[in-house]
Amino acid sequence: MRVDYLRVSVTDRCNLRCIYCNPLGGYDFIDRKEILRFEEIHRLVRLFAQCGIRKVRLTGGEPLVRKNITCLVRELAGISGIEELTLTTNGVLLEPIAEELKDTGLKRVNISLGAAQRQCYRQMTGFDLLPRVTNGIYKAIEVGLTPVKINSVIIRAVNVSQIPALADISVHLPVLVRFIEYCPTSRHTKPDSFYVPNSEVRNIIERKFGPLSSVVVENANGPALYFKAKGSVGAIGFISGRSSVFCRQCNRLRLTSNGTVKPCLYWDHCYDLKILIRSGASDQAVLEQIRRILREKSSYTRLNSSVRDFSMQNIGG
Ligand code: SAM
Repeated sequence: MRVDYLRVSVTDRCNLRCIYCNPLGGYDFIDRKEILRFEEIHRLVRLFAQCGIRKVRLTGGEPLVRKNITCLVRELAGISGIEELTLTTNGVLLEPIAEELKDTGLKRVNISLGAAQRQCYRQMTGFDLLPRVTNGIYKAIEVGLTPVKINSVIIRAVNVSQIPALADISVHLPVLVRFIEYCPTSRHTKPDSFYVPNSEVRNIIERKFGPLSSVVVENANGPALYFKAKGSVGAIGFISGRSSVFCRQCNRLRLTSNGTVKPCLYWDHCYDLKILIRSGASDQAVLEQIRRILREKSSYTRLNSSVRDFSMQNIGG
């Protein structure tokens, strides 16, 4: 599989405390000095582009809490070879900045939303901010950061009740609502018993909406499989990272907020590019290291991993 996709975590800070990622008190933030500066991210993305990266997704932590994020978007969108710049956000800060993000070169957004009901949203994230996210979704559609994808991680005994209402969003709005299988990541998040397979999520949806029909989504370029409920404007996607393995189709690398590259989400192993660039390495030396990462990527897969604790907060999902 050609690796042409880079996820860039621009910060490990977040304005929510999602139960599946960083519940209250669960995570020690990285020292600010260790977080990549904009010029460092720009340089690395420029060099990755020279090695075949064509798509970049900004993530976090919460990328919109990073000051002057639109400046970074403008700079990255201008890099030769980068065809698609996108961003994953919790949506809380999106509405006021959506238009500027679009104008500076962002193509589209993924918005995390685990509940359609206010009380459950608060339980999932620690904050009563659902209306702000909803406004962010409407604004993203209005300014053309489309197709908007809504990411819903489903956790047993927490938000299974929200599945029909989340699916219903795809009936009324031109969005892709994607159900993501929960992956326990550390001792701070819920244990494995809270995992809900997507087969069960689909059953719940079909009980309410009838049989789903398979659809092809243009440029979907990822592990999601898409379906439609009858009469819907949008579509429903399933990302089944627990119940299926898509290592052979994996086209991505992850640049963490403190400047390391992870060849596989399920491996601790990473390559420290920050050390290289902060020790004055030439572009040529960094390019050689990126090419090495690309050569070695296929030896790291979920099937041969022995990963223990990992922090989505730093990796970016
Ligand atoms: N703050 C942004 C947000 O909320 O979308 C971006 C960062 S968040 C770490 C990115 C994605 O990681 C989320 O869309 C969520 O689906 C995914 N994620 C985080 N923890 C997860 C977990 N334990 N299992 C499955 N997906 C997870």
